[in-house]
Amino acid sequence: MGSVKDYFSGLGSGFLSLLKGMQVTGKEFVTPKITERYPEDRETRHVPERFRACLVLKYDDEGNHKCIACGTCERNCPNGTITLHTKMVEKWDGTKKKKLDKYVYDLGSCTFCQLCVTSCPTDALEFSNDFEQAVFTRSKLVKVLNYLPEKPEPEPTEEEKAKFLAEKQAKIEAAKAAAAAKKAAAAGAAPASAPASLIDENDPKVKAALAKCAGDPEKEAKVREALEKAARLKAAKSAEVPVVDKENKK
Ligand code: SF4
Ligand code: SF4
Repeated sequence: MGSVKDYFSGLGSGFLSLLKGMQVTGKEFVTPKITERYPEDRETRHVPERFRACLVLKYDDEGNHKCIACGTCERNCPNGTITLHTKMVEKWDGTKKKKLDKYVYDLGSCTFCQLCVTSCPTDALEFSNDFEQAVFTRSKLVKVLNYLPEKPEPEPTEEEKAKFLAEKQAKIEAAKAAAAAKKAAAAGAAPASAPASLIDENDPKVKAALAKCAGDPEKEAKVREALEKAARLKAAKSAEVPVVDKENKK
């Protein structure tokens, strides 16, 4: 008798547990779905703005970027993820300028620390939130960030051209004036503002020194300069107040 009772009690508890299980399963039929239907919902998927997926160079609407090839990001990257290739270009005024040739970024070694972005002086970099970066080979993770063709250097304005020519002319004039002054000094003509000469032309030593370079104005100018220097030194020394040795005086 006891075994029949146990049988029905076991059957009842089994039925109850079955009902409980079906209740849980049934509840899931009406619970809103939380699984993602990727990639079917690719177009409507929301990715947070601040999600850091891949470093990019910012381009404006006219296809210009702001990178000046300073190398700050490359130096600040703790993983050697960035490699800059630069080149020198000649500007219209003949000066040279360093420009970006290739900005190479290895996504495979990036830790998304954003040091490169925050240290860039021209705000040329940012992180995109394009999370679909899976590839089949590691080499495909190495990207060249400056993908648009570089634009030629801008042509100068009329104002810039005029300023450049005026500066150039001023430099030529200054060089000419310096050359003329040098020539005059070599010919022995002292500038009007120069101090009076201290050379004693009647001194036999001076006479002999000048006689040695007769016919060579350049040499004579150099000798005069040396004599002038020596005469000034001598004058300065004789003008000094002699130092009295007090101890020996006693
Ligand atoms: S991206 Fe910025 S920091 Fe890096 S080289 Fe260009 S200007 Fe310099
Ligand atoms: S985010 Fe960090 S690791 Fe990645 S390139 Fe920039 S500095 Fe280097």
